[in-house]
Amino acid sequence: MPELPEVETTRCGIAPHIENNIITKVIVRNRNLRWPIPTGLNSKLNQQKILSVTRRAKYLLINTNIGSLIIHLGMSGSLRILQGNEVVEKHDHFELQFKDGLCLRLRDPRRFGCVLWTKDDPQQHKLLLNLGPEPLDKAFNAELLFEKSRKRKTTIKQFIMDAKIVVGVGNIYASESLFLAAIKPTRLAGKITKQNANDLTAAIKKILKQAIKQGGTTLKDFRSSDGKPGYFQQKLKVYDRKNEPCTQCKKLIKQVTLGQRSTFYCSYCQK
Ligand SMILES: [Zn+2]
Repeated sequence: MPELPEVETTRCGIAPHIENNIITKVIVRNRNLRWPIPTGLNSKLNQQKILSVTRRAKYLLINTNIGSLIIHLGMSGSLRILQGNEVVEKHDHFELQFKDGLCLRLRDPRRFGCVLWTKDDPQQHKLLLNLGPEPLDKAFNAELLFEKSRKRKTTIKQFIMDAKIVVGVGNIYASESLFLAAIKPTRLAGKITKQNANDLTAAIKKILKQAIKQGGTTLKDFRSSDGKPGYFQQKLKVYDRKNEPCTQCKKLIKQVTLGQRSTFYCSYCQK
């Protein structure tokens, strides 16, 4: 599943090609994504210029003078910049064609992604309105994490994966951040100390920055926006390393399931 770093990588990959470019055609080959792609996009967007490509959580926002497309890649979506006449494949459901002959093409085999339209400020869209802060913004800090965690009886791992607390901490990054902060993922959120909140906030920022820098971590299905497969596998310290030795203490990494998600940790290094 594309995580926040992949989405940011995608944004950086597509933006230089489509910002200030003029849309000449919108093609919808299969409307049936997670929610139906709205009708009438071609007549709306024909001859519109793309002003910017921004991101909020895992949503990409393609902004024009008359409104914004809100795109989510779901479980298996990818966006690529291609020549407009490139052969269309089975799962290429949506594309924007541009005046200079390029196109932005969405492929989504599992169709859990979405392409939506709003004529208003996309930050006010119901999907985005109640999201927590961006992990790399100053608004996400130790004080906030500590205050919000008080009296919470959920595990700390599920807590940091809650998009109302902070967006973009996916399953891989949650395990890795908790290892870096030396906090056991099964601890209750309400039991972490101020020091833990400091360490964990710093760890989340560090891990996500690293992943963005490396172009995103992924396990399958991701293709970078220029069409090459996304093989930037980050060096993971605990995730998917069950029964392998901890990089710090050599004890074997354990796996538990929290909220139906696989969770990996070192029972010696993480308390
Ligand atoms: Zn260890």
